[in-house]
Amino acid sequence: MEETIQKLAASRDLDDGELSFVIGTDRFDVELKETADKKRREIYGDSVFIRGLIEFTNYCKNDCFYCGIRHGNKNAERFRLSSDEILECCEEGYPLGFRTFVLQGGEDPFFDDRILCGIVSSIRERFPDCAVTLSVGERSRDSYLELYRAGATRYLLRHETADPVHYGKLHPHVMSSENRKKCLFDLKEIGYQVGSGFMVGSPYQTVRNIISDLRFLQKLDPDMIGIGPYVTHSETPFAGFPSGSAELTLRLLSILRLMFPHALIPATTSLGTVSPTGREDGLRCGANVVMPNLSPVKVRNKYLLYDGKICTGEESAQCVACLDARVRSAGYRISVDRGDVRRDGVTE
Ligand code: SAH
Repeated sequence: MEETIQKLAASRDLDDGELSFVIGTDRFDVELKETADKKRREIYGDSVFIRGLIEFTNYCKNDCFYCGIRHGNKNAERFRLSSDEILECCEEGYPLGFRTFVLQGGEDPFFDDRILCGIVSSIRERFPDCAVTLSVGERSRDSYLELYRAGATRYLLRHETADPVHYGKLHPHVMSSENRKKCLFDLKEIGYQVGSGFMVGSPYQTVRNIISDLRFLQKLDPDMIGIGPYVTHSETPFAGFPSGSAELTLRLLSILRLMFPHALIPATTSLGTVSPTGREDGLRCGANVVMPNLSPVKVRNKYLLYDGKICTGEESAQCVACLDARVRSAGYRISVDRGDVRRDGVTE
């Protein structure tokens, strides 16, 4: 076995020079993938957890340069789901086996604390055995606390890039890497299971940036880590930049599994968008979560963060059946328990 990969598996870490070497070459890819898969099987067996993704608003006050639903994209057709429509998505998802609902949206001021807390608590009331995950961007600590009290226990907020200079190249000046990181530590302190992560191959990203991302994740020690390739959207300032690669994303998934053996790591839609077998390959490289879309079909082709997004035309049941087949073809099986993080063998 290659010494560097062995060291990564044993110590869950490498120094910057070694990491930079492993990230920058394909020569370890087979070994990385096998070692990462062995590690995921030790902790999670062949289970793949499913999260029902409900994209409930594409209104956004932010102007992230890479994102298709940025405020400045005047061609985006905007939508907002009502509380009833959101609950209907859960009604549809529950019999399909979902025990986690992820509410994701742009930063839409319409969903203030009162409205969002109302939605969270009605989901928890109607489905007491389900977890509610929020992914609605940066809010105040008080707001995160209210939402936690209303029954949300998990939060996804990718840090996007840990390097403030790189962050400044991807976002307008009113946004800061500092605030995003503060939000993550607030969420953690409140008691949420927290997910963070970054895009792979975003414009101007260097290997050094990726190492900063890994170091930031070590500091945060999140329960979930989401990474996916940056994918170009033609109506953003980054229209001229190429998408990130599946190859580098897969390599990083394996590195993440070895650095964070217990993390819940999704094989993302963006990975499936840049490569037809992206999600299956992601699972084989260490990912252990998939997030089928439960949004109503009529809005799916409006939540377009990037061009060519897959799974925009199907009913939820079709989406689940398709992913189930993909998971089985990759050599795993979908687990319908809540899929809480396992830290040192204990289910939390
Ligand atoms: N408003 C929420 C949800 C954002 S969408 C928030 O701020 O967290 C979820 C994720 O999609 C983002 O965190 C970003 O990493 C990713 N994303 C956005 N645009 C993308 C693009 N063009 N290609 C790939 N991923 C993108």
